[in-house]
Amino acid sequence: GQCVAVCPTGALSEVDNTRKVIAALVDPLKTVIVQTAPAVRAALGEEFGMEPGTLVTGKMVSALKKIGFDKVFDTDFAADLTIMEEGTELLSRLKRHLAGDKDVKLPILTSCCPGWVNFFESNFPDLLDVPSTAKSPQQMFGAIAKSYLAEQMGIRRDEMVVVSVMPCLAKKYESGRPEFAVNGNPDVDLSISTRELAQMIKGANLNFEELDDEVFDNPMGESTGAGVIFANTGGVIEAAVRTAYEIHTQKKLAKVDFDVLRGFDGIRSAEVDFDGLVVKIGIAHGLGNARKLLEDVQAGRSSFHAIEIMACPGGCIGGGGQPYHHGDTSVLKKRAAAIYREDAGKAIRKSHENPFIVKLYQEYLGEPGGSLSHRLLHTHYFDKKKKVEINND
Ligand code: SF4
Repeated sequence: GQCVAVCPTGALSEVDNTRKVIAALVDPLKTVIVQTAPAVRAALGEEFGMEPGTLVTGKMVSALKKIGFDKVFDTDFAADLTIMEEGTELLSRLKRHLAGDKDVKLPILTSCCPGWVNFFESNFPDLLDVPSTAKSPQQMFGAIAKSYLAEQMGIRRDEMVVVSVMPCLAKKYESGRPEFAVNGNPDVDLSISTRELAQMIKGANLNFEELDDEVFDNPMGESTGAGVIFANTGGVIEAAVRTAYEIHTQKKLAKVDFDVLRGFDGIRSAEVDFDGLVVKIGIAHGLGNARKLLEDVQAGRSSFHAIEIMACPGGCIGGGGQPYHHGDTSVLKKRAAAIYREDAGKAIRKSHENPFIVKLYQEYLGEPGGSLSHRLLHTHYFDKKKKVEINND
């Protein structure tokens, strides 16, 4: 670490991880890297009096570098990686299903939201084999950072500290799940919220609005528009469709924007034509809406092939770690529009075209869904209901 500007005696409140982050930054034996989730850049500016919907990606990177992180990377890179793994899984399950394989469970459910994962582990333990086994972008990032990147940097995993900046309080819990550690060393060491990052920036006496734009480091800072839209309800499945369509049809999409998957209705559905194969998609945000879709799956009434679920209203842009929006949906809509603007402005907008993702598979992982990918990038789920019952006995 090479902390230059953070005052550790700054007014830090809440139960937060910022002190631990600062302790890592001042530890000369640690290399401290940070990843920032897509939703953070569309809301962080609000903590500094900027209008909702102001994109502050470059200022955020600049602030993190000034605070003293050794490398500033992007969770969006890992979102692209998630799409490679989840998109491949979707296509494989779909093909086997269409070929009449009765062992294949459909719909496939997205698995990147720990609020949602906790919910189904506790409430729908009979459906544990339905969600995608792909880890969330936060956890994929940590797993690759502490293997591939640590090797490249010539350091041991316990010399690296991975910090995540998340719109989400459930991400703190997710990073602490024991299955996401190797010999007790977690893939993601510390997760802080958007609000906690704002506190750190204020504690470092940085004039956020005046900061020049800076760019993420590589190799784990390059992302596509598909990685960016993970922040919005409907965005994960749109990103998956962009990649799954091109892999399945071997054709280029004429238009990468899927307006049918966007919007704010709590439950939405759409059909996307994969060149003759009609893929039926469901989307829910908010756990009450998720429960309705899940009850249909449980009862065998669901006709969807794939379902995206996000626990928070609006998706991660409305996460519990974001600047307070006091239930004002117009704030969420402005953040969502900012995310779609960032996507539209990206030179590359499909995860499988991210050159660093292509390189990662060529140099290290092999194939999506291959054995190393499975070990590093996939997970399994637990029956939390049973555990509670056993504990009560
Ligand atoms: Fe976290 Fe909410 Fe996003 Fe889920 S939807 S990952 S709980 S911020």
